[in-house]
Amino acid sequence: MYTIEKAPAKINLTLDVLYKRPDQYHEVEMVMTTVDLADRIEFFLLEEHKIEVASENRFVPNDERNLAYRAARLLKDRYDVKEGVRIKIDKQIPVAAGLAGGSSDAAATLRGLNRLWKLNLTLDELADLGAEVGSDVSFCVYNSTALAKGRGETIIELPPPPQCWVILAKPVQGVSTQSVYKSLQLDDLNHPDTEGMVQAIKQSDYQGVCSRLKNVLETVTLPKNPEVEQIKQQMLSSGADAVLMSGSGPTVFGLVQQESRADRIYNSLRGFCEEVYVVRSLGCHQRLD
Ligand code: ATP
Repeated sequence: MYTIEKAPAKINLTLDVLYKRPDQYHEVEMVMTTVDLADRIEFFLLEEHKIEVASENRFVPNDERNLAYRAARLLKDRYDVKEGVRIKIDKQIPVAAGLAGGSSDAAATLRGLNRLWKLNLTLDELADLGAEVGSDVSFCVYNSTALAKGRGETIIELPPPPQCWVILAKPVQGVSTQSVYKSLQLDDLNHPDTEGMVQAIKQSDYQGVCSRLKNVLETVTLPKNPEVEQIKQQMLSSGADAVLMSGSGPTVFGLVQQESRADRIYNSLRGFCEEVYVVRSLGCHQRLD
């Protein structure tokens, strides 16, 4: 028995941090959507009690540190599953990039194993389990467009944003999400207009979406990584309608509606940024058949 899942990258259209909670987590509000850059994950049923993870990417751990492994372990223990699984990750999403690659792999594992192990759980149940693996996993279970609250696990689904091209550029140096949150100064933050972004998406207002892109974590990552600001400026000067850093960074994305303009921005970045992608916005769940 065998099944396959697509694990798309996410971008933040907004990212706000409201306060630090007594449990030490940050209370956040984020509008997130998916883009057409995805890991491809294969699941092979094993008769023995074993979970194996394999990826050829040297930055991805092949043991219990892998978020896909943790998701499989949680499901197996919680539902007392007798079978095992070999999980093969074809990594396409840059690692430690602010694109939730690990969380998306974990979410895809929950969806894939729900089928492989015939557990018949709903997406809502899988999203609840996902929250135990990581804060972004619940969003990735639905793979849609959503407002995420709490520590990221409370998901209010939204329609997909207006179709556009997304140029992604990742500076060489990765960023640790934990250290960014640790350095965040909560006083004096200039907060995103989250409600305005939600309305712009509901009204399919592309300009409204562009004008409201905002991420408070830029206040930490930009001063420490000058390349991020350079890429933002380069994207804007070569014609992006709007640009933002995704998650804790360092990946920057730019939005445009015309493919020719996306190509122009891609070419202008290729010189000084190694990892550049032009992909379509998605924003709603897609199966890989
Ligand atoms: P987020 O935006 O959710 O903070 P990210 O995109 O910044 O995530 P990831 O690509 O998920 O970061 O990787 C962060 C770290 O998690 C990596 O350095 C890696 O060691 C570890 N990791 C565990 N499982 C995976 C996985 N399946 N894919 C990638 N990294 C993983």
